Amino acid sequence: MAKYDYDLFVIGAGSGGVRAARIAATHGAKVAIAEEYRVGGTCVIRGCVPKKLFVYASHFSDEFEEAAGFGWTVGEARFDWKTLIANKDREIDRLNGIYIRNLEKAGVEIVNSRATVKDAHTVYLDAEKKDVTAERILIAVGATPFLPDIPGIEHAITSNEAFHLDELPKRIVVVGGGYIAVEFAGIFNGLGVETMQLYRGPLFMRGFDDDLRELLSEEMLKKGVDLRMNCDIVSIEKKDGELHLKLTDGDVICTDCVMYATGRVPNTKGLGLEEAGVKLGKGGEVIVDAYSQTAAPSIYAVGDVTDRANLTPVAIREGHAFADTVYGGRDVKVDHSIIPTAIFSQPEMGTVGLTEAQAREKPGDVDVYKTAFRALKNTLSGSQERTFMKLVVDAKTDKVLGVHLMGPASGEMIQAVGIAVTMGATKAQFDATIAVHPTAAEELVTLREKWQAPVVKAAD
Ligand code: NDP
Repeated sequence: MAKYDYDLFVIGAGSGGVRAARIAATHGAKVAIAEEYRVGGTCVIRGCVPKKLFVYASHFSDEFEEAAGFGWTVGEARFDWKTLIANKDREIDRLNGIYIRNLEKAGVEIVNSRATVKDAHTVYLDAEKKDVTAERILIAVGATPFLPDIPGIEHAITSNEAFHLDELPKRIVVVGGGYIAVEFAGIFNGLGVETMQLYRGPLFMRGFDDDLRELLSEEMLKKGVDLRMNCDIVSIEKKDGELHLKLTDGDVICTDCVMYATGRVPNTKGLGLEEAGVKLGKGGEVIVDAYSQTAAPSIYAVGDVTDRANLTPVAIREGHAFADTVYGGRDVKVDHSIIPTAIFSQPEMGTVGLTEAQAREKPGDVDVYKTAFRALKNTLSGSQERTFMKLVVDAKTDKVLGVHLMGPASGEMIQAVGIAVTMGATKAQFDATIAVHPTAAEELVTLREKWQAPVVKAAD
């Protein structure tokens, strides 16, 4: 008789957990996966996928306006929030079904229950009120929105609720300066909501290239987002059906909805991990080694719960690498050093590799090539939106260390550019690539002038 009920028990059926479970089962392991909400996890159910659908919806307002320059007369345009929500929900249901079917096809048993760790080989299932045992346990429970403890915070929503609002608010205040805050500020603004975004520091998108941060803030202001830096909410009060926000700058403003996008915390509370010998970091994240193994050798963890790089494709790669290493007889580690990523802000941004500031912190000289221009489409559309491209290059080796883009399709472009950067391409190899004309992307292979910092005279 087998020593354990399963070879592998996965807790959490999000991007990382599902990939690990499927691949482990394909390698012949007996696998079960527990999910307390819906199979698909944050990305599919209330993250990347519905967010991108909302981004598409919010672009139409600009597109209708820009059509006039190309000779179109667009009739009265009206937006119906309920239709968007219903269509989005239908698509999420479809994807949820595909995820379930793929797990079943691979022979993975799905358990609809919250699961907690009882010891290094035992998991307790809430719904069935029973223990099951496994040779190995994989923690892939993701993270949950963090809300600061201020008076009236119970009146605020997070991105979780933003996907299910009964009505589109007339006014909204988005708090935070990371991916989620800029993306949702753009979504609401594009859908016609009077949008304010508050960020507690001097300039949002901390950690991204400084040029991108500056330009995004300028473009968002031009599009009508009331962007306020060095500003936060002190308290929220509900009065006469409105929310009254007291701000750190002394202002009091009224709005219909407040959405916090102030980071996420790993879902490790009450999971029984420390009792089982797993070490957690200061923020509650699971500490793992390069093979996603925790301090308890039979317990592994992948994805946002480990707080390495909190992105869906990274969680998928970590889950796949774990399954290949442990069940497929291959030694696979995930390289977290170069990760291309897109921010579906408006305008969109794409980035890979080192920022200029990060490159300058390293020994050796850095060459920078950059350009900002109005894309061809905007000569007729009337849009004043700028496209921006920047290459950060190691002056000695000519290697392209980082690429930073802002403008339409930056997400699509950065995926392709990411291949070149991951391969260690040099600027000369970028230059040797024949341009595709007329595109914005051709600037990536035609940038010849090194950017020189403007000389500031003492008298200026
Ligand atoms: P981020 O960690 O990106 O940003 C959090 C923001 O909230 C920061 O601007 C931070 O400010 C601010 N903040 C933190 N605590 C407070 C506080 N107490 N009061 C006021 N402001 C605060 O988190 P997000 O929630 O935007 O996104 C979560 C994760 O989801 C990210 O790690 C990202 O990787 C992922 N994601 C990826 C997307 C994509 O790939 N396109 C899209 C959406 C999410 P400060 O800078 O000062 O610390």
